[in-house]
Amino acid sequence: MTPTAPTKDRPWALISDLHSNREALEAVFRDIAEQGAGDILCLGDVVGYGPDPEACVDLVMEKCRLTLKGNHDAALIEGEERFNPYARDAIRWTRRRLKPGWFKSSKNRERWEWLRNLPLQHKEQDLLFVHGSPRDPLNEYIYPGDVLFNAEGKLAEIFRAVPHVLFVGHTHHPMVLSSRLASFTPVEGRDRIVLGADRYIVNVGSVGQPRDGDPRACYVLFDGEEVRYRRIPYDIDAVARKIDRIPELDAVLGQRLHEGL
Ligand code: ZN
Repeated sequence: MTPTAPTKDRPWALISDLHSNREALEAVFRDIAEQGAGDILCLGDVVGYGPDPEACVDLVMEKCRLTLKGNHDAALIEGEERFNPYARDAIRWTRRRLKPGWFKSSKNRERWEWLRNLPLQHKEQDLLFVHGSPRDPLNEYIYPGDVLFNAEGKLAEIFRAVPHVLFVGHTHHPMVLSSRLASFTPVEGRDRIVLGADRYIVNVGSVGQPRDGDPRACYVLFDGEEVRYRRIPYDIDAVARKIDRIPELDAVLGQRLHEGL
């Protein structure tokens, strides 16, 4: 796909942490189309936790101009030792579904190779994209609380790697953090922020498993200046029911979707 610059009429859409949640992803793609967005960039964790890995991989392969590797995508290929039991069992189940074997379809081989070869980070103009953080693209979390605790070492070092804007996912918590250490948490009615001359870290939230107390799918539109958060309702019951029917996926993974935690 040929890159286009983000504009007011045709902003970019930034999505992350889809986690095999097909219903959330389809609702988000519908909204992206309605909003007239151009390029769609995905910051990783296409799989893990949820019941529809194949459909989510296929949709992202088809629609996203860029997709980065998340820690769950990496664990699928390299191993899940670091994960908690829910995440670990979900990755093992996902691997059994996706790993190409002698008798599996060549579609699975294509999905597997695509996941295996996802890049860890991407730089374009003065924008940097990574799943976790520039210091540790797969695993480091950047939270608003970093401003209060241990800010100096961690945030100063991370901001040194930020050209103008760093887009991340991984925490499933939407936020904008400026290099002056002012943080912005998007809520209903206050979901837009115009970026100035500072440097910024923008967490685009999670499509498939939000953890900020709002269960609606979250993603970001970016027009080159303004970051706009979108919250999209979807059929959570349908996803939870699918999770309940798969013994390897703990029912907790469906319940937490209802709570947005
Ligand atoms: Zn994630």
